[in-house]
Amino acid sequence: MRITRALIDPHALGANFEPGNAIAPGREFVGIVGASGSPGFEGKRVIAPSSVPCSACDLCRAGLSIHCRARSELGIGRDGAMAEKISLPVSSLIEIPKGLDDDRACFAPSLGRALHAADLVRLEGKPYVTILGDDPVALLSAQVMTQRNASVRVLGREPARFGLCEKWGVKHRHIDQVGRRADQDVVFVCSSTPGDLEIAMRLARPRATVLLVAPPSASNAPKELTTLGLLHASEIAIIGSRGERLADALRLLASDGVDVRSLLTAKYRFAQYAEAFARAARPDTLRVLLEAA
Ligand SMILES: [Zn+2]
Repeated sequence: MRITRALIDPHALGANFEPGNAIAPGREFVGIVGASGSPGFEGKRVIAPSSVPCSACDLCRAGLSIHCRARSELGIGRDGAMAEKISLPVSSLIEIPKGLDDDRACFAPSLGRALHAADLVRLEGKPYVTILGDDPVALLSAQVMTQRNASVRVLGREPARFGLCEKWGVKHRHIDQVGRRADQDVVFVCSSTPGDLEIAMRLARPRATVLLVAPPSASNAPKELTTLGLLHASEIAIIGSRGERLADALRLLASDGVDVRSLLTAKYRFAQYAEAFARAARPDTLRVLLEAA
């Protein structure tokens, strides 16, 4: 397929690419399917999950293809969407609904991860939910959890993003300005900053749920004992969350149910890639969009 849009994730710049980390550049894109070998899909606008399963291993056959033992990832072991053209199995393709523009459709993977994480939590009444982090997955989780009747606050580090929270009516604080009061029902860890898992444990009430939405940073290791000590003492359930509900994300985007336009920091042509990557490296960048001419 020909790539018409691709988002640059600032976290993917200079990242250590490992399967499952989902931080390689070129996994958030819109493509137009070419004529060869894709009956029924020619000319359609599509997205696809970043993981490409083998369809043959025991886990794939058991319907757990997201955990495939031989999966490849866009940008890791195969071309990501920074390439002009990429090839993917037809079974991976998800058509973009009419009426949803390409710019917003690019955010389906981030929104899909927020929807998947939200579905892993059982909510009763109006629970207190803290979102740790301020990247697009965190900011979309805040919008989704607010719509699900939770009392949501975002704890971030980048002051410019607090303005977005204000626009959406979501409470926000700098992560260093909040007491660790062990009173939150649910904590989404959307940040890989070393030490944030421990902060999440200190925010969570006993028997709370902590969701690891971002993969923990490897340099978290020295803190591991304290973190696991807290996990044990408070009987907190940690749930890993890596899946993404792409079709649901496209439907929600098409109905304009969440705001993703605000998550787009800048737009460039593919030919302006050098400027685009320089813009992506600035600390105030959420996402930079590359667009075909
Ligand atoms: Zn497999």
